[in-house]
Amino acid sequence: MPGLSTLNSRPEHRERDRLMHCDKCHAENRDDANFCYRCGQSVVHLRAADKEEAEIDTASLSPIAAAEESATSKQATRRVMSGRYELREMLGHGGMGVVYRACDHQLGMDVAIKFLPVQFAANFMAVECFKREARAAMRLSHPNIVRFYNFEEMAEGKYLLMEFIGGESLALIASRKPERRFAESEVIRYAGEVCDALKYAHAENVVHRDIKPSNILVTPDGRVKLADFGIALIKETATDEAENEIAGTPTYMSPEQILGKPVDGKSDIYSLGVTMYEMLAGQPPFRGKDARDRHIHEMPGPIQGVTDWMNAIVLKCLRKEPEARWQDAAELKDVLTGKKDIGIPIRSKYEPEWARAEAERRMRAPTSAVPQAPNGEVKPPEQARFGLERTPRPFTQSDVRERVEKIKRFAGFAEHASEREQARMAFGTLAGIVGGIAIVLGDRYGPWRLSHAMLLHLSWIIYAALIGLAIGAAQRKPAKLLLSFIFGIMGGLVAWLLPGWIRAATGEARLGSAQVGFFCSAVIGSFLGMSDGVYERSLTYFVRCLLWGGLGGVIGIAVFWGIKYAFSAFWLPPLNWVVAGGALGFFINMSLGLAKKPWMKR
Ligand code: ADP
Ligand code: MG
Repeated sequence: MPGLSTLNSRPEHRERDRLMHCDKCHAENRDDANFCYRCGQSVVHLRAADKEEAEIDTASLSPIAAAEESATSKQATRRVMSGRYELREMLGHGGMGVVYRACDHQLGMDVAIKFLPVQFAANFMAVECFKREARAAMRLSHPNIVRFYNFEEMAEGKYLLMEFIGGESLALIASRKPERRFAESEVIRYAGEVCDALKYAHAENVVHRDIKPSNILVTPDGRVKLADFGIALIKETATDEAENEIAGTPTYMSPEQILGKPVDGKSDIYSLGVTMYEMLAGQPPFRGKDARDRHIHEMPGPIQGVTDWMNAIVLKCLRKEPEARWQDAAELKDVLTGKKDIGIPIRSKYEPEWARAEAERRMRAPTSAVPQAPNGEVKPPEQARFGLERTPRPFTQSDVRERVEKIKRFAGFAEHASEREQARMAFGTLAGIVGGIAIVLGDRYGPWRLSHAMLLHLSWIIYAALIGLAIGAAQRKPAKLLLSFIFGIMGGLVAWLLPGWIRAATGEARLGSAQVGFFCSAVIGSFLGMSDGVYERSLTYFVRCLLWGGLGGVIGIAVFWGIKYAFSAFWLPPLNWVVAGGALGFFINMSLGLAKKPWMKR
């Protein structure tokens, strides 16, 4: 159908087909299907998470398309429905149907027609779903909701008649934006209008359950129209089965929706939060196969390049427990338009008064939050670098403390890495120092007699094992303690053996001790990092820890060599071991903390 495929060329429809298997009869279904083609089982919950609007064969879905087999152009899809609506071009499609623009010859105006795909026409559940959309949408009349006119059942098929929206969906608008990111002012405006629509729908006891960019349409004059009530829930008439069914698009579903628990308006607030996150960050917080699991268990980190105020609003929408989110669409709208303050998170009691005031200022709505004329671009408020602003005040002690706090936060220890990470850094440093002292004492008074060269090699193993032990001890988990101890020994062994192998392999007899030092500590750092990755059972974290651990090792030894050259000689040999151990412990642990920072996770 070359003619029809040209109609299907919107960027949001270009994704490749994939298949999924029905839970009940294991038949292969397209992953945009709502019902199994063989047994009629609902397969909405199986839809691939990263795919909102799959490319579907419009020829098989559309009743008109089937009748126009030989079509070669948009013209070919022209056909009159019910003797009144002349079909024009296709506007879009999702899992539930194909939407066409049509001209109503009686009233002389454009309408949109959504067809139930022909293969679902005999499927009771699919028809029910279609009728449900009609029931839900037709009881709603609001300037921000697509107006529904009728549900018709003709020989040509079943279809819904609705108001034609000449604009585009947010998904399509996003595809034209640089990095698919919207300005904060636009998000405030669009999300604010979706809130208006939701406020009204929730008051009418309708939960939308499928809020996402492709279901939010924007008219040419910039007004938002919420569409697609295909899986909406009418609370007062819903059966228990309907209340507990799992339906939605996994990328945007709330945890309670995924778990099949009863949902209410707060579930739509969550999905709107995901939508806002996607508009600001350019991609949704979770996508792909594990999106459902991550929606249930993982809290996304703040979005880079977005004000603290906006981050706080979006992240509160995304809280796992419905009670912790904004309580309703009206509250969210008030916050977005600056009518309601969002307060500031609990902060350190040692924080100076002016820093607290500054935090409060940054949590206040920007002046641009006040509703603007549609399409009026507003420049986002300027952000201070690292949150520090130059002040004319003299530099005081609390400024120093504040700056230390900022550096600590930047390195991942104050905000996200928590006390556990700080304890680990302190333990690591201490363990390195103890390792150094142990070596010196062992060398002086120990019962064994080791040559200096031998001790040099052995020390890497002792260091690594001790630092590994400390990392485990700081986390107070026996399994972790054992794991990092074993990995420490392994790292030490490799660090001891590899330089010899490299020398033998390359024939380079004189590998400088500086190179050996850097190399050994990078190896140890990587191994200790690996133990964390293995413990967390995450490949990405494993690789990240490996790299950061290696870097931590190199920085640690660089400090050691820096001290050595600054004093021009090993003027105090025992102290060198202690300094080296401490530096290694500190930096390796710091690098692991860094690997845990949310912005490193993306
Ligand atoms: P589905 O339930 O299959 O997801 P939707 O109702 O979301 O179907 O419609 C799919 C697409 O069709 C939308 O993303 C939008 O681009 C387009 N569309 C839907 N309704 C209208 C309308 N009333 N006016 C213009 N375009 C529409
Ligand atoms: Mg849709």
